Amino acid sequence: IASKLPEVGTTIFTRMSALAREHRALNLSQGFPDFPAPLALREALARHSLEGHNQYAPMTGEPALRTQVAAQLQRFRDVSPDPVAEITIVPGATAGIFCAIMALVREGDEVVLLDPCYDSYEPAVRLAGGRAVHVPLVDGSFAIDWDLLGNALSSRTRMIVINSPHNPTGAVLSHADMEELQDIAELENLLVLSDEVYEHLLYDGRQHHSVLQYPALRQRSVAVFSFGKTYGVTGWKTGYCVAPPALTAELRKVHQYNCFVGVTPVQLALADFMAAEPDYPATLAAFYQRKRDLFNHALEGSRFTLRPSAGTYFQLLDYGAISDAPDHQLCEQWTVEHGIASIPISPFYQAPPQQHCLRFCFAKQDEQLLRAAEVLCKI
Ligand code: PMP
Ligand code: GLN
Repeated sequence: IASKLPEVGTTIFTRMSALAREHRALNLSQGFPDFPAPLALREALARHSLEGHNQYAPMTGEPALRTQVAAQLQRFRDVSPDPVAEITIVPGATAGIFCAIMALVREGDEVVLLDPCYDSYEPAVRLAGGRAVHVPLVDGSFAIDWDLLGNALSSRTRMIVINSPHNPTGAVLSHADMEELQDIAELENLLVLSDEVYEHLLYDGRQHHSVLQYPALRQRSVAVFSFGKTYGVTGWKTGYCVAPPALTAELRKVHQYNCFVGVTPVQLALADFMAAEPDYPATLAAFYQRKRDLFNHALEGSRFTLRPSAGTYFQLLDYGAISDAPDHQLCEQWTVEHGIASIPISPFYQAPPQQHCLRFCFAKQDEQLLRAAEVLCKI
């Protein structure tokens, strides 16, 4: 058949996790914790299901959860979105991203993506009839080159997609970056899709800057978040979108026919946990920073060069001193031969530059991180 996405295969995350399982490799590839989520959260899910909350939730999300999301945004970002008109619960950030792009990108629109970028953006843009315009982040630092981005804009540019903290590099946007974005978006009348799923995972005292905190961005942005990341339950596939009422209304038109609703007992469990533990997200930075440092420290003496990871639960390792092989080849080879799985970063680019980086997820038990580092030190 004439495919709508001819060159799309199975995602690199699915492939590497499957290869890791097949070869019983240490799996530091796909981003998910290998340790349990808080017990009270898991108990709340069981309780809500046992109590009979197993039918459709309201289309926009359980009111109790939207209220908790609003309270959390107030607490951490000092912003007050309206839970009724501006917050929508979606079955995962991936669904939120897809719905936002489908709802807002029109035939022929251009959407700026900053490479390397998360793999779900481009297919969504194309299915919406738009065209992705790829602007590379600065080699090495993975910062945005605002002049380069400015030059990529045209009269057809409709949207810019940003992601901070950034998957796969761990780079974080600064306040100055957000001001640049705000100026450009206002001047060129652009929409912004802001993927903030790692909003609580910033290290070394860094602060997250949300589009919701910049008045001119707030009016023209959809911000997407994931409970999977914040509460360590990626398999619960639940997230939310925050956008002004007019954008939310459009997003919900797609959401109601794409997903219709999110999972009821999951939403109720998250609402309970958030009400009981409002400061839980504030514990994450120290928790994951310790894991990052444990892993990095254990790699001292290896032949890898560590790229700085300012946020997310990913660490890039540069293997330039070890091999010249392309990253996807080496990644598969090391999974099979050394029993260690990671993620190549070339699939996150339209035109991958000459670099030798693999992404390792450090949301893993200490013992796994130490075993992984031991293997890597011998390569
Ligand atoms: N955006 C980024 C940058 C991600 O890393 C992920 C993680 N899978 C997602 C979106 C999707 O999140 P979810 O699992 O909630 O769909
Ligand atoms: N976001 C996760 C990662 O970057 C995986 C999500 C997925 O498998 N699609 O590893």
